[in-house]
Amino acid sequence: MIEFENVSKQYNRGGYALQDISFSIPDGELVFLAGPSGAGKSTLLKMIAGIEKPSSGRIIVNGQDITRLRAGSIPYLRRKLGLILQDQHLLNDRNVLSNVMLPLIVTGASATEADGRARAALEKVGLADKAGAYPLELSGGEQQRIAIARAIVNRPKIILADEPTAFLDRDNANKVLNALKAFRSAGVTCLISSHDEQFLDQASRVIYLQQGRLTDHWHDAA
Ligand code: ADP
Ligand code: ADP
Repeated sequence: MIEFENVSKQYNRGGYALQDISFSIPDGELVFLAGPSGAGKSTLLKMIAGIEKPSSGRIIVNGQDITRLRAGSIPYLRRKLGLILQDQHLLNDRNVLSNVMLPLIVTGASATEADGRARAALEKVGLADKAGAYPLELSGGEQQRIAIARAIVNRPKIILADEPTAFLDRDNANKVLNALKAFRSAGVTCLISSHDEQFLDQASRVIYLQQGRLTDHWHDAA
């Protein structure tokens, strides 16, 4: 469960990047965060990951008020999330398998276990055959799917993806979305930002932002 209670964010006493946002998302939903560039989508995702702090309001993730976490606890929060953010690039000097193994190595998994789980994660995004390739040898769509494999290898309950289909053609964007959607059946909550409205009908819930305000919010009755 992800809950926002009257959350606002001001950067450096500038205008509001987000203003008085409230919503709650039950587990296992595929949520689209929609709205034009500058609407506050990245800011909202970064706040769930503890990368940015709200100026006011509360954010509760799986029962924990993350706005009250000490700085030292933020890395533990982040490890429980699958993050596919704009500024987290693959390491170009390591092959695909090594990139995907990294989050497991960091949390102390053995090399054998990390190898097996990373290969299973690559399988899930349909890129098992690229394990030995280097990121720069892959297309943009493949690189995004590798980033998804890296994000899910720790079995997160929540996946946050910031514009994962930007710069991709429709075919590749669909592959990226399908890779994300596959985790939903396992109870994983996916929150995906996009300014591209062509995919909205695939969501179970859509949150619209405009100039930092929540302007619309709907979810499937089913
Ligand atoms: P989106 O992801 O929808 O494009 P952002 O969350 O990136 O929107 O930005 C929302 C607003 O906050 C914009 O006006 C942007 O300029 C501002 N903003 C974002 N990040 C920063 C920052 N680090 N410092 C100052 N202003 C920022
Ligand atoms: P394995 O049990 O060998 O890890 P799985 O098919 O269960 O194989 O998982 C494949 C990959 O997908 C693994 O790397 C796993 O960490 C990842 N994964 C992430 N989230 C989930 C989830 N909720 N359920 C199953 N697998 C997940």
